[in-house]
Amino acid sequence: MPAIKNTVVIFREDPGQGWVEEKHMEVVHKDFDPDTVEIKPENVLVKTLFLSLDPYMRMRMATGAKSYIHPFQIGEPLQGTAVAEVYRAAEGSKLQKGDLVVGMVDWAEWTIVSEKGLTKVEKKADVPLSYFLGILGMPGYTAYAGLEKIGEPKAGETVYVSGAAGAVGLVVGQIAKAKGCRVIGSAGSDDKVKLLLEEANFDAAFNYKTVKSYTDALKEHCPKGIDVYWDNVGGEMLDAVLPLMNAHGRIPVCGAISQYNASEPYGVKNLSMLIKSKLKLQGFIVGDYYADRELYQRFQQEIVQWIKEKKIVYKEHVDEGIASAPSAFVGMLKGRNTGKQIVKVV
Ligand code: NDP
Repeated sequence: MPAIKNTVVIFREDPGQGWVEEKHMEVVHKDFDPDTVEIKPENVLVKTLFLSLDPYMRMRMATGAKSYIHPFQIGEPLQGTAVAEVYRAAEGSKLQKGDLVVGMVDWAEWTIVSEKGLTKVEKKADVPLSYFLGILGMPGYTAYAGLEKIGEPKAGETVYVSGAAGAVGLVVGQIAKAKGCRVIGSAGSDDKVKLLLEEANFDAAFNYKTVKSYTDALKEHCPKGIDVYWDNVGGEMLDAVLPLMNAHGRIPVCGAISQYNASEPYGVKNLSMLIKSKLKLQGFIVGDYYADRELYQRFQQEIVQWIKEKKIVYKEHVDEGIASAPSAFVGMLKGRNTGKQIVKVV
């Protein structure tokens, strides 16, 4: 292959508080020769096929903040999980040309990475490769593990999911349905609400952007109160839910996306309901559950089976080309995506 250009997205500027914009990232084209570039021992050169864009990346753009994951470096490529194809491997590597892998790469067409961080994937019939970034990947396992370990939904209970039409929320709602719960979802457009009701089998759903009051909408759709609240958004929605929780209710705190671009954090007022209603409110990071191999294997088997049997639907919002990643990322944070936000690179 002759020398080519590698299109890479560089982190240009910390957005500070408030909205991240495309100007905080820069698309550059670097001279690159995949056949001659040096690959050090234990490294491989991979070609990105599908790149995952995820809300947690917004937190990695806060360069001074302390978080569970280190921030992106100004002037360096942004990074994310991808399905990629091995193009060349260092001598002695367990991987070879053509192998399909999932792992952390640059927002780029080509990346040299340590093979230690890569997991080989087998292409499965009926399952698109990009699903390894969504329902069969980190967001799917977030839903599966968070429900099993914290939400613990039981048949007949009411489960409310915010951010319900996204990568994680769609899976949460459908697993809870499969367990015999009554499932209510909220999302930010009428089309997303339609998807939840007509395709994802939710019992009720509402557009949180057009309802007059979160409390009234929740009272209408959850007349028996809420037993499990899957919190993807935090802030004002969490505040509205707390007084409506039934005794001994569980709240897996998965995310707080309403706060990631906020210039002022929202102060939750109803935390005393934790005492009155004896609630469990527990945050978690999916990464902590990968060590539970039994849970992870059960997740993989069950989800693949449900996909094959068409018991679970999954959606993706796919943008094309690595240069589209900055606008796709901003768009995802603003709710343009339905289901998992993916960039198809090759
Ligand atoms: P999504 O696919 O749901 O995409 C983000 C969605 O958030 C948007 O589509 C938008 O949908 C919604 N959103 C944006 N702003 C707001 C707001 N102000 N209020 C309510 N909703 C908003 O992303 P994921 O499914 O990947 O992630 C969902 C949540 O789960 C995030 O908070 C993320 O950080 C968290 N997460 C946590 C993990 C963990 O280990 N704890 C792992 C993975 C994800 P809409 O149109 O409905 O507004």
